Amino acid sequence: MTSRDRATAGGLGRSGMRSPAAALPLVQAAGAVAGVAAGPPGLTRPAPRRAAPPRHLADLDPAQRRVAVSELGEPVFRAGQLSRHYFARLTRDPVEMTDLPARSRERLSAALLPGLLTAERELSCDSGTTRKTLWRAFDGAYLESVLMRYPDRVTVCVSSQAGCGMACPFCATGQAGLTRNLSAAEIVEQVVAAGRVLATGAVPGGAARVSNVVFMGMGEPLANYRGVICALRRITDPVPDGLGISRRSVTVSTVGLVPAIRRLATEELAVTLAVSLHAPDDELRDELVPVNTRWKVAEVLASAWAYAAATGRRVSIEYALIRDVNDQAWRADMLGTLLAGRLVHVNLIPLNPTPGSRWTASEPEVASQFARRLESHGLPVTVRNTRGRQIDGACGQLAASTHPPVR
Ligand code: SAH
Repeated sequence: MTSRDRATAGGLGRSGMRSPAAALPLVQAAGAVAGVAAGPPGLTRPAPRRAAPPRHLADLDPAQRRVAVSELGEPVFRAGQLSRHYFARLTRDPVEMTDLPARSRERLSAALLPGLLTAERELSCDSGTTRKTLWRAFDGAYLESVLMRYPDRVTVCVSSQAGCGMACPFCATGQAGLTRNLSAAEIVEQVVAAGRVLATGAVPGGAARVSNVVFMGMGEPLANYRGVICALRRITDPVPDGLGISRRSVTVSTVGLVPAIRRLATEELAVTLAVSLHAPDDELRDELVPVNTRWKVAEVLASAWAYAAATGRRVSIEYALIRDVNDQAWRADMLGTLLAGRLVHVNLIPLNPTPGSRWTASEPEVASQFARRLESHGLPVTVRNTRGRQIDGACGQLAASTHPPVR
């Protein structure tokens, strides 16, 4: 990202700390359907109603696909053929659908595989193994996704909303507010697009497939509950109904929308849950994660333990280490006491720089001391890799300015 880009992202209304009350309109966004956006935090008037993205195969479950195909005057088995093209072969190009009559291909792909996202800009670093894509949606909304290739896996970090309404003051996405929820297909398409790039061998390391998906891009996934659940099913359903990615390799990260976490535990999806805690005490968390004024640390953690109990999955606690803000030894002990004995893993993230932020990452020695203290409480701790920092593609740096600079 260029300095001009930073200036644009930073200019989208960053005004330092927001009032805790800013969280309230966001909470109402939880469960909102795609196409009905909540207003940016702090605004009381509702955001304009937006047109929904075009219907896409990935918005539909297999039964709905059969109905859609027969409504187009085609035999129902075409639904399976089309699914195989999209989810297994990662194509939407009618020319490649040689098992379908020419007339049907055109009609089916036009009706059920519309182009949803246009790549506006690609940035890469780490010798091409980290790639950030800025996407433009049908209505001009911008979002970003990041592909990260490691020796043993390929992770795609996807956006669940254009913008974000949670207003965490250390996160670039939170500064511009929420534009809208993404549809399930817009989320799935980010994974499919990464799979296409990997299949061509364009990412160093040879042709590969996406193995992991993390909902840690733009947006609060659980504030787009319906779209995200639908996307999770498409991502984890076996091929050809979905992409066949293992549930344990899919992580949903949340600020801690307690009712939605409790509901997620009932979905029989058993994906990995990550909770962005960032502080063990309500006083500081109210400031760092404004939605904490609605659901407190104790309630958030209780819902996380309920999720772990229901799914058998270790919950990941995300903690961005911010110098002299949340990195004190006493806070490590307080966090250690809260988490000790639970089915949990702590992921420490050195704070990534964001435009205009007055905060910076903890000193490395302070960070490792923080980690050691947590370990002394018997907790598994890792310090997150800050991949993509150079291209503003690391945690909290995705801002997708609405006026991307011409490179
Ligand atoms: N809204 C969701 C998912 C998106 S953010 C959530 O908050 O969990 C993914 C992770 O990056 C979260 O843990 C978030 O708190 C963290 N993050 C945000 N800004 C960051 C920054 N500047 N440096 C490091 N991590 C950051």
